[in-house]
Amino acid sequence: MIIDFHMHERTFSSDSQMNLKEMVFEAKRKGLDGICITDHDEYGLAEYAMKLSKIENFPIFVGVEYLSIEGDIVAFGINDLPKRHLSAQEFIDWVNNRGGVCIAAHPFRNNSRGLEENLLTIKGLTGIEVLNGSTSNAANLKAMEYCMKLELQPIGASDCHNLISLGRYATNVPMECKTVEDLVEALKTVKCEPVILSGYKKLEL
Ligand SMILES: [Zn+2]
Repeated sequence: MIIDFHMHERTFSSDSQMNLKEMVFEAKRKGLDGICITDHDEYGLAEYAMKLSKIENFPIFVGVEYLSIEGDIVAFGINDLPKRHLSAQEFIDWVNNRGGVCIAAHPFRNNSRGLEENLLTIKGLTGIEVLNGSTSNAANLKAMEYCMKLELQPIGASDCHNLISLGRYATNVPMECKTVEDLVEALKTVKCEPVILSGYKKLEL
């Protein structure tokens, strides 16, 4: 399945221009097999996303983009958020203890919201965004180097806030996923690959 792992919907991400219905339409049009909503520190869309996913017969996985003290982390497999502001390691432990998974979002983007060199000391990450659509090629390349060194899942995601950039990058997940639990299981067990969507170009790692 080709899945875009990091996307923002306008109801809870004020910096996004898209509503969920048009995101699903555009994702289908571009050939994606599933999308992930990862609003900033917010799970509010989960119930509606589940309903729309059924109506449209299209997988919508709701995760979150959590701003830890050291930077942004995308998480799946949890249904709420910690009560206090946690460090990256505390948040990753919190998610892992609940059976979820964490992905370092755009670790080297130059907006002080990436985990940067903390990647080398933090334990328990499942993946790293090595292709983030809102990040420079140089920063993505550096993320790829760290991901290979740390042997984590290399994740591609558009981090889109508008329909043009939706699906710019995505991830090939070689397992059928219908629910977010399936997605978590896939991330823990099968090797995923980042892809550039046009023509499903696979990256040579
Ligand atoms: Zn984001």
